[in-house]
Amino acid sequence: MAAEKVFVNGRIYTLDSAGTVAEAMAVEEGRITAVGSTQDIRALAGPGTQEIDLTGKPVIPGCIDTHCHLIMHGSACTRSADLTDCRSIRELQQRLRVHWAKNPNTKCIVGERFDHEIFGEGRWVTRQDLDEVTSEIPIVVARLCYHAVVANTATLTPSRDRLNDEQWETGKLTEDDVSLAWSQVPDCTPEELENAAIYAFNDARSAGITSVNTQIDSVEELELLRRLRDEGRLPVRVRFQWPYRLMGKLVEEGLKTTSGDDFLRVGAIKIFMDGSMGARTCAMCEEFTDEPGNRGNLFRSDDELAEMLVEVQRNGNQAAIHTIGDLAISTAIRGIEKAMPKGNTGNTHRHRLEHVAQMSPKILHDMARLNVMASVQPQFIVTDFWTHERVGPERYKFVYPFKSMLDAGIKFGMGSDCPVERLSTMELLHRAVNRDAMSQKECLTVEETLRAYTNGSAYICFEENDKGSLEVGKLADFVVLSEDPFTIDKSHLGKIRPVNTVLGGQMQ
Ligand SMILES: [Zn+2]
Repeated sequence: MAAEKVFVNGRIYTLDSAGTVAEAMAVEEGRITAVGSTQDIRALAGPGTQEIDLTGKPVIPGCIDTHCHLIMHGSACTRSADLTDCRSIRELQQRLRVHWAKNPNTKCIVGERFDHEIFGEGRWVTRQDLDEVTSEIPIVVARLCYHAVVANTATLTPSRDRLNDEQWETGKLTEDDVSLAWSQVPDCTPEELENAAIYAFNDARSAGITSVNTQIDSVEELELLRRLRDEGRLPVRVRFQWPYRLMGKLVEEGLKTTSGDDFLRVGAIKIFMDGSMGARTCAMCEEFTDEPGNRGNLFRSDDELAEMLVEVQRNGNQAAIHTIGDLAISTAIRGIEKAMPKGNTGNTHRHRLEHVAQMSPKILHDMARLNVMASVQPQFIVTDFWTHERVGPERYKFVYPFKSMLDAGIKFGMGSDCPVERLSTMELLHRAVNRDAMSQKECLTVEETLRAYTNGSAYICFEENDKGSLEVGKLADFVVLSEDPFTIDKSHLGKIRPVNTVLGGQMQ
């Protein structure tokens, strides 16, 4: 029988284990049925076959973003003032005013993704700065890590008796306390939520991403994803990470990690061990170099984590554990080890650590020994330029040490943590390959990065049989690029554009 679709005349980097480079692929019902030369694949065509000419362009497997918050990203883009790259508190105030002028009927003003490290004033934005914009309706602005927010008087007044003096004075709330500010922001309406999701998923697809592990936080968001899947409106494949506190909801429905179909699947259960490097709330073994006396906060002990993991495992689930500081990471590893003995030898549940910023030789060794995997975000290397000051030169040698992780045999996938970072697959590639001047020893090659972003990501999601390389039987998810990442001068990697992101053989 003739092929349904053939893609010909490409330079297809299949990223299979042999590193095959092919020219053409045949696709049937969304999956690859043959890979080879243009001549061989054309031989499979018949009168009804659709032929797509890749015009000599390079092709890579679809990128799999293992950690992002896409509904949050979509709502920031469609509903909030974007504070990205604000160079001063004055500019931040101005953007909030412009946003308010465009949305005069809004009941509150939300600004997202400011970075106080780049403010010309050299300080945090305060409650008083926001009151200068307005003290009549609530204003909440979130730092790009979302582990810290600042709010105005109108936002904080209802919870004044729950705030300490410093919080009230500065308007700055961190970690769990941020909910006191968010509680004053009305929830998205169902329509806003849908717009946000569709916007963000399309944004991901345009960037060359075919599958995402997106964090969701409520039953409403889950229902929305299910509806979009049923209506055939998901432009990317979604695997959702689900909060531990709501695990019972999945159990009730008889669902566990990997339940679902090719478009919507249950992902890992999310557990937090610490905060962020930016807000100095991640848990460190030694104090921050630029804030003596502060070692951040560890949210739970290894025993407490192990108890949660036993529960996670009993329900057939994988855990995705947020760990940034070396104390959080080593405690999580011990927790995983303690939860392991019965039926999880070698980490068969594929528990993964999210972010793993501050590593150490011992952590590298233990992760490899216990087969603990990681989900990393190469874009942080450059954006979080201040990390060097936070941890000092000695510890900095083990910040996002991707090459050492690879050499140690640790399995990892890659993602953006969007909206913390942009949804840009080629920026991610550029940063993993080129890094910053102080960490050149940890640069990955183009192939190592793309393999982590495709094969590696698929593996930490239990999807290595369906995704991660272009081989017979796998989903026909791939990206056509403007230029060849394997031959371009590596300083130009970030300039490559995804020309088309193909999902199940469907062009975008
Ligand atoms: Zn995140």
